[in-house]
This record gives sequence, structure tokens and C-alpha cells, in this order.
Amino acid sequence: MRASIDISEISDYLKSQIPVVALDVLAPEQSNVLLRLRDEFLSKLKSETYIWNIGYGTLKKVAIAEDNGLVLQECPEFKNPPNIEPLLYIFDYIQKCDKNKKAVFIISDIAPFIDGGSRHSVEIASKVKNLCFDLKPTDKRLIILGQNIKLDESLVRLIPYCEMQLPTIEKVVNHFNEYISFITESAACKDIKLLLKLNSDDIEELGRALLGLTLEEIGDFMRLNCRKKRNGNTITVDRDLINAAVQYKTRILAQMQIELAEPSDIDFGGLDILREWLHKRRRLFNQEARNYNLPKPKGMLLAGPPGTGKSLVAKTTAKILNLPLLQLDLASMLGSLVGESEANVKRALKTAEAIAPCILWLDEVEKALSGSGDTSGVSQRILGMILTFMSESKEGVFIIATANNVAELPSEFKRKGRFDEIFYVALPTEQERVEILTKHLVRFGCSDVEQEYIEAVAADADKFSGAELENLASEASLIAFDEGRPQKVTLADLQKARKSIVPLAIQDSTKIEHMEKWAATARPASTIKHVQPEKTSYKVNMDFN
Ligand code: ADP
Repeated sequence: MRASIDISEISDYLKSQIPVVALDVLAPEQSNVLLRLRDEFLSKLKSETYIWNIGYGTLKKVAIAEDNGLVLQECPEFKNPPNIEPLLYIFDYIQKCDKNKKAVFIISDIAPFIDGGSRHSVEIASKVKNLCFDLKPTDKRLIILGQNIKLDESLVRLIPYCEMQLPTIEKVVNHFNEYISFITESAACKDIKLLLKLNSDDIEELGRALLGLTLEEIGDFMRLNCRKKRNGNTITVDRDLINAAVQYKTRILAQMQIELAEPSDIDFGGLDILREWLHKRRRLFNQEARNYNLPKPKGMLLAGPPGTGKSLVAKTTAKILNLPLLQLDLASMLGSLVGESEANVKRALKTAEAIAPCILWLDEVEKALSGSGDTSGVSQRILGMILTFMSESKEGVFIIATANNVAELPSEFKRKGRFDEIFYVALPTEQERVEILTKHLVRFGCSDVEQEYIEAVAADADKFSGAELENLASEASLIAFDEGRPQKVTLADLQKARKSIVPLAIQDSTKIEHMEKWAATARPASTIKHVQPEKTSYKVNMDFN
């Protein structure tokens, strides 16, 4: 991420003999941006706007259609000679065409060709560099437009970079109101009535639900839903639209492997230090804290063996802090096409900023950032993007990174000060096991289990993780049901269930021991000392009867 100029400044740059600008825009926002730029260049530079991309393979003039939408007109004066590669010819054309022409040329979707690593990129970088000097005395200007633009080193200092942000709540609400007026007018021409049953608070809530989408996506959503809500000659716009907006956004984000996760409906057991730490911060994102200019929490790293409740904590934190939760599965993003994973991470970070205050949960972060087996350098670049975001973002995005294997995490990520706190979430202590077992037995409808039974089985469940204790509770309740005693769990049921599980920490003890050594450098999530004495015996055959 580089320091970005604002889109409203582009005309000023072009006017000041800075003839080439890079503009980074999410794909669904491009046509809106083209219309906006066309108007601005016409009024401020008295210049027409043209666009070229590989898909068109030719130059088109940006114009406005009768319905105020975007239309691209043919340019008969542009002819690509048959023996010249179109991707190279467009730069020659811009350089050689009429020097008195007042024109802004937008070349889009050439991002993969200007980062220095692809076919033609050396030639293209050189041609763009020439244009940075040659266009200065002319009225011809060039914009390199695309999603996730990375400039070749030789161009970085020559070309100002502008990155479009996702719309703010004010912009979203304005866009909605404008859209409703537009639909009301156009529907009236066809004798259709629009009934708006939303007050200003509802519209604000709708706006929040739509945050993180581009204006173009919001337009698509509105068109789709107005059509669905038409009944005869009436379109009713009511609070149903808010739910529909959440679902629409969830779907759009899921396409980019960003999940709008549900906060947890169960609370975690144990982890008292972590709980207290979170509760102290629960009001830090509200207006009162903002008035006092208190530092916004940056986030926390939770590391510990699998199944110890780290994901559950992330989901419960959303509830405690009362913030939306964006879950990013970085590991599966890495499997995307080259360039796509970085674009997705970038979009996720932008979305988080647009939705802020919110929680951004980076799940199993070590899988994506360890870099093992990655020869393309993509994990390194993603790590860079996340670290820059963490140090620069001021929007109130609370990051929760969870990791099962700290050894694989790059040290830059674990450095002091990066997160507000790094917690080691260990296997639960005996007292915590009682708490966790009780919670899950109650969840499965078994609230009357004798306390001493739970304590006895918890004492014999050394090295069980929270997930394994949940499994134990569910097994025991199934046994009781199977034996015709629904919800009446006995000690023998618990014992039988206990024996059917061999905890992962026993199966894979070396990994856990490794992690416990590292744990000394982190803050424990629970009060009681977790590191077990060297030789703990594992009582498989304890007899409860
Ligand atoms: P991790 O992310 O550490 O691998 P999870 O949060 O996915 O572990 O745990 C899986 C499940 O185990 C949780 O959904 C929850 O039902 C149960 N669990 C784990 N730890 C706890 C805990 N401390 N309290 C209650 N339930 C727990």
C-alpha cells in the first residue's frame, strides 16, 4: 500500500504537467468512476476521455447515454496495424496522435503487465516512462486504471498513485436517497407507485448494512430488490430491505472468500484473563471513547493448540464489543489464481475499513503467512499488506489473528507492539474443564448432571481441549438418549464417552510441548499455570464406580 492521492485531485495533477496517474479501483466500481472522470475532465481540462483495454482491443470514447448511464463509442480514427501487438501499439498511438488533441486516455486492466514480472512488461514500463516525459508539453494525458495495480520500480516515483476508497456511510445513504428519487420518477411515468416505508433511522441502518459494497453493487442490489418488491402497480420499500442487504453483502463478500461471520451464540468457558482484558476494552469503540481520543485497540493474536476455543473467542469478542465480524480465510485465498489472492486481501482490508468499527478475524493465519512451499512470494506480499494495514489504518478495525502453530508464524508478525496483546490459549485446566463441560452439557439439554460427576470426569480429562470436552458432553448425552434416558446423563455415560476419546495433545505431544515453550513469551489467557509438569501420567483406566 502506498500513500494515495484523492480521486478529486487527479485533474489538478494532470493539469500541472504530471501527465500520467495510476488509479486503483475495484472492478465493480469502474464504470461509475469512468463517468465521474469523464465529467470532471470535460469541465476542468476541456478534454474528452478515451478508454482502451485488451478486451476491447481498440480505443473507445467515454460518453453518456440517454438514461445517464455509460456508453462507449467507436473511434474510427484508431486503427491497430495488423503486425503490431495491440498491448504495445496503444502507447505508440498515444504518443504519436495529433499533438493538439485534448484527451485523457485511460488504459485499463494492464496491471499484470506493469509490475516488471510479465511478458512485455519491460517494454511497457519503458513506454510508460517515455510518456511521463513526452506528454508533458501536450494536452494528452494518461491514466492507468485497474484493480490492484503494482507499478514497476522504475515508475513508482514518476507516477502519482490514487486508490479509490469504498463509499462512506454518508455516501451510501445519499446514493440510496438519489436512487429512490430516480426510481420514483421513472416508475411514475409508467403509473407505478413507490411506497417508501423507511424512516431516517431505518435508512441509516440500511446504509450500515450496505457498507463495504461499491456504489455499483449497491445500485445492482436496489434494482434487483425493487423488482422483487413490485406487486402490481406498487413497489414497497420497507425494513425487509435491511435483511436483504445483509444477505446480499454476505454473498458478494463470500465470492471473495470474505465471510461476514455470525457472532457466537455460546460463550467460552475459562480463559479468565483474556475475558477480563476484552471486557476492559468493550466500550473503546463507542462514541464516548472517540470523544476522549483514546487509542483504538489494534487487536490480539491468539495462539494455542487446536480446539482450545480461539475461534470461539473471536466470535464471542464480536458480541462483547458489539461489532460486525469479518472472517478472512487467508489460506484458501492463497489457492486463488495468481494476483487474485492479493486483490482479495486488498478488497477485504478495504471492506473492513469501510465497515469499521469492526473485527477482522484472520483465521489460521500461520497457514497463509508461513511462506512454506510458496515460490511466487505471494505470502510475503500478503504479509506486507497486512502489516502495513495494521500500522497505518486509523479506522477502528480490531484484528484477531488465530494460530494453531506459532512456530510457523513470521517473526515480524509476532513482534512486540504489533498487536495490543499476544495470548497463549492453552489446554484447559481442571477447573476450566469443569466449566466447559457444564456449558456444553447444558447446551445439549442436560442441565441436571450432578456437579460431582462433572468434576470427576474433568479431573480425568487431562490434556483434553475445549473441542474434545464438547465432544465428550455430546457423546454422553447421546448415550443417555440411546439408553432411553434422554437428558439424564450418569457418571457411567460420562466415563464411557471419556474413554472413547484420545486427545490430540496425546497423539501429537511434541508439537504441544514446542508451543508451551513459546508460551513463556506470550501472556497466558487463563490465570492458573498451564505448563504441565514434565511427566504427567495419563489415567486412561480410572474407575468411577
Ligand atoms: P480453535 O479455534 O482453538 O481450534 P474452536 O474455537 O474452533 O478452537 O473450538 C471448537 C469448538 O470447541 C468450539 O466451537 C466450542 O464448541 C468448543 N470449545 C473450545 N474451547 C472452548 C471453551 N473454552 N469454552 C467452550 N467451548 C469451547
